[in-house]
Amino acid sequence: MGGQATGVGQAAGGRQATGRMSTLGRNLALDLGTANTLVYARGQGVVLDEPSVVTVDSRTGAMVAVGAEAKAMIGRTPPYLQATRPLRDGVIADFESTERMVRFFLRSVHRNRHLSKPRVVVAVPSGLTRVEQRAVEEACYLAGARSVRLLEEPLAAAIGAGLPVHEPTGSMVVDIGGGTTEVAIISLGGMVTVHSTRVGGDDLDAAIAAHVKREYSLAIGERTAEQIKISVASAFPAYDALDVDVRGRDLVSGLPRTVTLTSREIRRAIEEPLNAILDTVRAALDECPPELAGDVMDSGITLTGGGALLRGLDERLRNDTSMPVRLAAAPLTCVARGAGACVESLEQAEHVFVAAG
Ligand code: ADP
Ligand code: MG
Repeated sequence: MGGQATGVGQAAGGRQATGRMSTLGRNLALDLGTANTLVYARGQGVVLDEPSVVTVDSRTGAMVAVGAEAKAMIGRTPPYLQATRPLRDGVIADFESTERMVRFFLRSVHRNRHLSKPRVVVAVPSGLTRVEQRAVEEACYLAGARSVRLLEEPLAAAIGAGLPVHEPTGSMVVDIGGGTTEVAIISLGGMVTVHSTRVGGDDLDAAIAAHVKREYSLAIGERTAEQIKISVASAFPAYDALDVDVRGRDLVSGLPRTVTLTSREIRRAIEEPLNAILDTVRAALDECPPELAGDVMDSGITLTGGGALLRGLDERLRNDTSMPVRLAAAPLTCVARGAGACVESLEQAEHVFVAAG
């Protein structure tokens, strides 16, 4: 499809040969996260960073908002508007919305579509099925991509965090997103082992909301729960000195009410999902081949993804595993920058992509 119809595809096809025009190729990398979608443009860096949320009008099927605008609507929509997160638990929960969202974001950074079609590298969760991978590819083609290559997220995260992924030494990366946690040990440009769980930052929010409901009979929305997490939650008792006022709806009277929560009770409330994340790291260490385990003991564990910003998580993990642990610089953009490094030199990166199936 495409290409043939207009002649624009022909011009793009000939681009390679002329060299002169290759500067027009605006190759893109896409980090399709469960919480946030980022786009990296070759030569420019991260050009788009928006929540992975879509609002659809169920009466007409029209997409009325995408990204930050749609996220602001969560929990505030009339019944006919649905603000949804199409990738919720690290899988594509809603194919159509995912496709529309990808098309919208790619088109918004590639407005001048007549110049050339971009080649796109997409970082996807390592647990996606082949069917889900195809859906992602299809969405990119529909958005005007000339070619689509998939890259597994942990590998992208490790590249973006500056780990020596191509060396014959084991590097361990833990990427904690909204809906998933992925733990990989990488050596010689490939993932030697990967462990993932469908538990991530969102599950901490849900645990906070459940605690407030149980202890105070107060209903709070998922965005409020996330704000509580960001402002006071921690993984380590050393951060227990904070508290926060929270507004919600009293489940008995139905009226708005405010309660004060302490960081100590929040730390206890998130213990279960947090342990699921830590268990995944331990499982990866347990199954690590001995030579690489030695490398990881020296080089340590690198944390990426927004979930890694939880206060004291690095200390907790250091305490639990006795390994050196470091938080990557700008953890929220590691995957996009890592996939971006691959679009800067597509040919050299060929061996890191998921084999076409
Ligand atoms: P994904 O790759 O799944 O889109 P991200 O890497 O963008 O996920 O991370 C999103 C998660 O990070 C969300 O659960 C969000 O609440 C969490 N997060 C972002 N900032 C912080 C913070 N300062 N403290 C704790 N969690 C955070
Ligand atoms: Mg991610």
